[in-house]
Amino acid sequence: MYCLAFAEREHGSDLTAIETCGEIIGDQVVVTGMKSWVTGADGADAALVLCRTAPDELSCVLVPLPDEAVELRPIRVLSGESDLFELHFDGARAPLTNLCGERGDGLQVALRELSQVQSLDLEREFWDLVATARDYRRNRDPHVRQQLAWAYTQVRILPQLTVRNPELAKVLRSEYHRRLGEIALDVVDADGLLRPDGEAYHLSRWQHVFLASRADTIATRTTELQRGEIAEHLLGLPR
Ligand SMILES: Cc1cc2nc3c(=O)[nH]c(=O)nc-3n(C[C@H](O)[C@H](O)[C@H](O)COP(=O)(O)OP(=O)(O)OC[C@H]3O[C@@H](n4cnc5c(N)ncnc54)[C@H](O)[C@@H]3O)c2cc1C
Repeated sequence: MYCLAFAEREHGSDLTAIETCGEIIGDQVVVTGMKSWVTGADGADAALVLCRTAPDELSCVLVPLPDEAVELRPIRVLSGESDLFELHFDGARAPLTNLCGERGDGLQVALRELSQVQSLDLEREFWDLVATARDYRRNRDPHVRQQLAWAYTQVRILPQLTVRNPELAKVLRSEYHRRLGEIALDVVDADGLLRPDGEAYHLSRWQHVFLASRADTIATRTTELQRGEIAEHLLGLPR
C-alpha cells in the first residue's frame, strides 16, 4: 500500500512548482523536502513522492516507509480525524529502480494516480440515508422526499457518466457528496447540531459525512481547477 505525496504546503494545485528535491546519486534517489496533506501515510508501506530530479525535471519515486529519514506529522482536520500527514524528508533513500515511469515523467504519473483514487460506494451510502430517514420518521416529509429523490438520480447517473466522461463525473461526484452531507444533516434535524455522547471529538455518522465531504471538492485536485480543464480541453473554450 502506498500513499500519494505530491502536494506541498505552498504548491497544491500547481504541482509543476513543487520544491522537494530527488537527487540522483549513483543508483539511488535521495529525497529531501516537505510534502503536505498526505492521506493515510501512517498505514502505508511506501510514499509515491513527486520530486525534482533536475531543475526542469519532475519524477515520481516510491520511498519505502517507515524510514528514519521521513518524519510524519499528523494534521487534524475539521471532522476531528488525523489521517492526513505532513511528511518531512531528510535525505530519505530509495533505489533508482523505484522510479515510477521514466525519469522526467513525474507529472503525468502523479495526474494518472490522482485520477484513479477510488471513492466510496455512493449508492450504499444513499440507501443508508433512506433508512435513517425512516428511523427519524422523516420519510413522509415532502421536502426530505424531494431531496432524496434528487440524490437517487445522482447515484444512478454518476456511474454511467464515469464511463462516458470521467473528468466531468469526478467534478459532479464531489459536488454531489457535499450536497448529500447537507441533506443528511437536514434528515437528522436537531441531532445534526448536537455532539453525541462520548470522549474527545466524537461525531455521529452523518455529522462526519457532512464535515468530511467539505474536502471532497479540494482533495485529488480542486473542482475549480478541473472545471477550468473541462472548459479548455473538452469544450474548447478560450483560456
Ligand atoms: C482531505 C484531503 C486529502 C488530501 N490528500 C492528498 C494526498 O493524499 N496526497 C497529496 O499529494 N495531496 C493531498 N491533498 C492535497 C490536495 O491535492 C490539495 O489540497 C489541492 O490540490 C489544492 O491545493 P491547495 O490546498 O494548496 O490549494 P491552492 O492550490 O492554494 O488553491 C487555492 C484555491 O485556488 C484555486 N485555484 C488554484 N489554481 C487555480 C487555477 N489554475 N484555476 C482556478 N482556480 C485555481 C483552487 O481551486 C482553490 O480554490 C489532500 C487535500 C485534502 C483536503
